[in-house]
Amino acid sequence: MLNATHAFTGIPSFARGPIVSPQSVEADVAVLGVPYDEGTGYRPGTRFGPRALREASLRYAFFGPGPGKRGYWDLEVCRRRLGQLRVADCGDVDIVALDLEGNLRRVSEAVQTLLSRGVMPVILGGDHSISFPAVRGYAGGGPLSVVHLDAHLDYRDEVGGIRFGHGCPLRRIEELPFIQQIVTLGIRGLRASEEDLEATRARGNRVVTAAAIRRKGLVAALAQVPGAERIYVTLDVDALDPGIAPGTGTPDPGGLSYTEARDLLQGIARKGRIVGFDLVEVNPWLDPTGVTPLTAAQLLIEFLASIFDP
Ligand code: MN
Ligand code: MN
Repeated sequence: MLNATHAFTGIPSFARGPIVSPQSVEADVAVLGVPYDEGTGYRPGTRFGPRALREASLRYAFFGPGPGKRGYWDLEVCRRRLGQLRVADCGDVDIVALDLEGNLRRVSEAVQTLLSRGVMPVILGGDHSISFPAVRGYAGGGPLSVVHLDAHLDYRDEVGGIRFGHGCPLRRIEELPFIQQIVTLGIRGLRASEEDLEATRARGNRVVTAAAIRRKGLVAALAQVPGAERIYVTLDVDALDPGIAPGTGTPDPGGLSYTEARDLLQGIARKGRIVGFDLVEVNPWLDPTGVTPLTAAQLLIEFLASIFDP
């Protein structure tokens, strides 16, 4: 029964990885869903992101006990990748509607639990506000650099007095005492805040626009990402062009292509040890074609290959 042959059968754990509780997981990577979108200021629905990503990931049943080979054949490098990686699915953080503090605390606690077991968290959002409690879970582990792919800076101090919305996570992350530097890649659009841009640059953070990435190339963009001992990556799916990832609340035209995002992430993985990442803002309600979670799930798997099987 568990050896589901086709994607439409069986229980949809991420890429068919075993379902294990965070407290008892033994794996290299644990996928953790955060079905939370109460930080959204415009179009909600990312609370259904983790489920949509799991569903889409069944096209890539690389980590299950089924009859297929583990990992995948990489056409570009002519070898099998991720055949040895142990990926477990630790389910979702228990989200309770309107319990802001409790939800954020439970995200941090779940990340802490995974780290204490030596497992790398891969966190599925949810809106981008979940990245702050996720990174907060790394407290006590030493200095951490953050690489942020997004159409937007997400560096607002507050919106209407609220400091934990999805426009604020990078500002909150930077206030954590163990954060070294933030590099933001892919920003664009007509709604950028001059003050926020100045504020983040004044603190020594780097910002590379999507247009600069295309104009100067990936090598130049990656030169803006300093090497670091420990790197956390936060990936907002709206960094991708809305043509390939329309299912997101705040799309902006002129985004990254799939191969640009994949190759950027590959270069980031060479900058230091990736200690975890999140993939946020997938909103299946805004994409009846399902191409957004499918694209995001593949990007996630190729990033895992860059980290664990370069
Ligand atoms: Mn964002
Ligand atoms: Mn964004």
